[in-house]
Amino acid sequence: MEIGQKIELTITDVAAGGDGVGRYDGMAVFVPHTCRGERVLVRLVRITSACAYGTLCSVIEPSPERRVDFCAAAGLCGGCDFAHMAYTEQLAVKQKIVADALTRIGGFSDVPVAETLAAPRPERYRNKMVFPLGTDARGQAIGGFYAPGSHHLVPLSDCRQGDRAAALWLSEILSFLNETKTSVYDEKTRRGLARRVFVRLAEGTREAMVVLTATSAKLRETEKLVERLLAVPTGYTLKSIILNIHKEPDNLLLGKKNLVLYGRDYIIDTLGDLRFHISPHSFYQINAPQTSILYETALSLAGLSGKETILDLYCGIGTISLFAAKKAARVIGVEVVPQAIEDARENARRNRITNAEFIVGRAEEVAPRLAEQNERLSVVFLDPPRKGADRKAIEAILQMAPKKIVYISCNPATLARDAKILAEGGYKVEQAIPADMFPNTSHVETVVLLQRQNT
Ligand code: SAH
Repeated sequence: MEIGQKIELTITDVAAGGDGVGRYDGMAVFVPHTCRGERVLVRLVRITSACAYGTLCSVIEPSPERRVDFCAAAGLCGGCDFAHMAYTEQLAVKQKIVADALTRIGGFSDVPVAETLAAPRPERYRNKMVFPLGTDARGQAIGGFYAPGSHHLVPLSDCRQGDRAAALWLSEILSFLNETKTSVYDEKTRRGLARRVFVRLAEGTREAMVVLTATSAKLRETEKLVERLLAVPTGYTLKSIILNIHKEPDNLLLGKKNLVLYGRDYIIDTLGDLRFHISPHSFYQINAPQTSILYETALSLAGLSGKETILDLYCGIGTISLFAAKKAARVIGVEVVPQAIEDARENARRNRITNAEFIVGRAEEVAPRLAEQNERLSVVFLDPPRKGADRKAIEAILQMAPKKIVYISCNPATLARDAKILAEGGYKVEQAIPADMFPNTSHVETVVLLQRQNT
């Protein structure tokens, strides 16, 4: 096999990360944008001693699960790597991705993995959209998404993953930038002002927040920008317009400093019977209808009686903590982002919940401290970012020996790795329930119940 060679391949599986996989000459070949069961023509682009990577040239025999009409930018934009797959097939593939990770990485071959919980709304579900800004050949401001694996900007006038409101505000900001001749940040030269547009929508209350990130506060005619954004008819009430100062040449979404151009520096959303205060820097689940299902699943696995002391590690703005607090004696939430902890405390007050306390700090530092204080826990909710839980946090949990651990994960690989450590520490992985939080992408959320064995 050599680079540039064209080969015919039958796709037999879809791997974590979303690529289809077929075998050629005994070697696994990974090809994006393919479906299981398809016969495809592939051009090899990279070959290692273990596997090869190809790009799709043409589909020779398409799978009945292939769909072609999801988005005009499919394949160009790096956003939806499952855009080419029928929704039911996406769900089946995700169940297999979770089962494979648990088996291959965790060594759990007999854990029941449920069918993936379908999203109530498999498109236009994102309540958060982030559009990087750039310039076209004529120097005009454009906004959109990056092409797969690059920082090449694909301009978009709309995106089927998010509400139209986000694209409408993006378009208004682009006209404003062009009319006021405001410069756009260039990653290479690190010059220019406007950098990104970030829109967050609260489906429960129809409140919205628009954040423009810029390298300095020198943005001119901000009153005009506010006026124009407020005039866009979107079906949402714009409650917060923020200029975020982001100078550093990093890939973080936001810089530290927020200047409120209009309204407040937060929005309110409702989930179930609770109201949540959400600041720009705080994490908030991006698929609202599916979040309710995810939390209900996690809480039902915990099987709370009202007597429990609960630790919610990686608690964000305290969403799981507060739903759990209503069914338990006491909840401790831990989170590293200070604004998120302020939101969590405010959310407890707002919802008149008095049995939840929140600690700002790293899980790997706070959990060992709680263990040292002999904190007696019945249940731990663990909802870390993609890189998984820190080993020190896991060891502290083992030391505190809760009866149940409910692990909520957005990355099956780190979930399987962490579950293995917990299993070696005396826990049994009872079941895994994948939930589709991110339709049309290869990402999958999983809820896992672990029970302590050595009582
Ligand atoms: N359970 C929450 C948040 C989950 S996202 C919800 O459902 O909304 C993961 C959270 O972990 C984020 O809020 C992130 O800021 C936080 N986080 C990341 N690294 C952390 C660490 N080392 N210690 C504590 N929290 C961390």
